[in-house]
Parts: sequence; C-alpha cells; structure tokens
Amino acid sequence: MEIKNSEFVVSSPVVSKCPDDNKPEYAFIGRSNVGKSSLINMLCNHKGLAKTSATPGKTLLINHFIINKEWYLVDLPGYGYARRSKSVQQKLQQMIMSYILQREQLINVFVLIDIRHEPQKIDVEFIDWLGQSNIPFSIVFTKADKLTASKISSNVNSYLEKLKETWEELPPYFVTSSEKCIGRDEILDYIEQINKK
Ligand code: GDP
Repeated sequence: MEIKNSEFVVSSPVVSKCPDDNKPEYAFIGRSNVGKSSLINMLCNHKGLAKTSATPGKTLLINHFIINKEWYLVDLPGYGYARRSKSVQQKLQQMIMSYILQREQLINVFVLIDIRHEPQKIDVEFIDWLGQSNIPFSIVFTKADKLTASKISSNVNSYLEKLKETWEELPPYFVTSSEKCIGRDEILDYIEQINKK
C-alpha cells in the first residue's frame, strides 16, 4: 500500500469520544519506549506525525490518524511505564481495555515488542489477554537494526516458543526497524490485504 496521505485527527480520553465515521481501525500498542512513535512515523513516512519523545510514556490518550482518507491508524498509550503512579496506570489500563473490547471497527492490534529483550511478563500477559478476548492481533518486533541477523532469528524464535506454551496458533509477526526502514512494506501490505476483504 502506498501512503498518500496521513493526518492527525483527534486525541480521545474515552472510547465514546473517538471518531464516529466507522472506518476500519488498526491500533498500535506496546511498552513505553518500545519505538511505537518511530514506527508510526516510519509507516506513514511522516516525520513528527506521532510524537517521539525522550520522556517515555507521555501519550496518555487514544490518538487517531487518518490514512489515505480510508482507515485509521490508532496510537494507544504505552503501558508499563514504571514512573507512573498506580492510579494513573490503572486508569490507562482501563481506557486501553475498553477501547480494545468495545471498538467494533477495530480490525487488528499490532503489539510492539523490543526485539532485544527476553519475553517480558507484562507483554506476554497482554498478548494472552488479547487471545483470550478473541481480538485479532499481530506482533511487531522493533529495533531490529540493533541486532545481527542470527540474533534476530534466535530472539524471534524464543519469543514464539514462549507463546507456544499457551497458544497453539501463533500470531502473524513482523520484524522492523524504524531506523533502517525495515518491515514497512510488510505491515502496510498486511493492512491492505485485510482492508480489501
Ligand atoms: P515510544 O515511546 O514507544 O513511542 O518510542 P519512540 O519511538 O519515542 O522511541 C524510543 C527510543 O527508541 C528513541 O530514542 C528512538 O530513537 C529509539 N528507537 C525507536 N525505534 C528505533 C529503531 O528502529 N532503531 C533504533 N536503533 N532505535 C529506535
């Protein structure tokens, strides 16, 4: 898919304030600092579209971007930022879960995982919750430029092995680098294929 047009539309504190024109939505989520804003900017080829930031976890709202005037890319708040208070953390979690469970036009959740790290409990629990809730999702491994090809493949495999402990069917996954523009076509083609159905 070619991205001809990408624009910020609205930041919403609750699902009921999200756009109501019923276009298909693809959401992106991950731990703070996983590289979500950089990935969104890379996908849209639009520097500064999503705010990359030196202070992790700044976005606390549901951010809608309209792509090619056809579908929404949704930037969900990063989870698991240690320096947030418990009550803020809980409120965010509630907002994220309500959005994911209630949003009928949500087609797929892309869960971002930093490819350098061992499977983290908070990510695996989130993935398990998506699976249990029957929400279609895929995994996006980020920052692949930081590892060698063999380390990428061994880390991806150990992640998939971890998921196999719980799930028979593994989700689609993408290996990406925003720095090196890796994985862009794969994710956009995946979205295009689903949109065509
Ligand atoms: P967010 O908090 O998940 O939105 O993460 P950001 O996109 O703001 O990125 C967090 C940090 O990781 C920043 O310092 C980025 O420059 C860096 N980063 C993001 N993506 C990549 C990548 O693909 N490769 C490398 N090497 N660094 C990245």
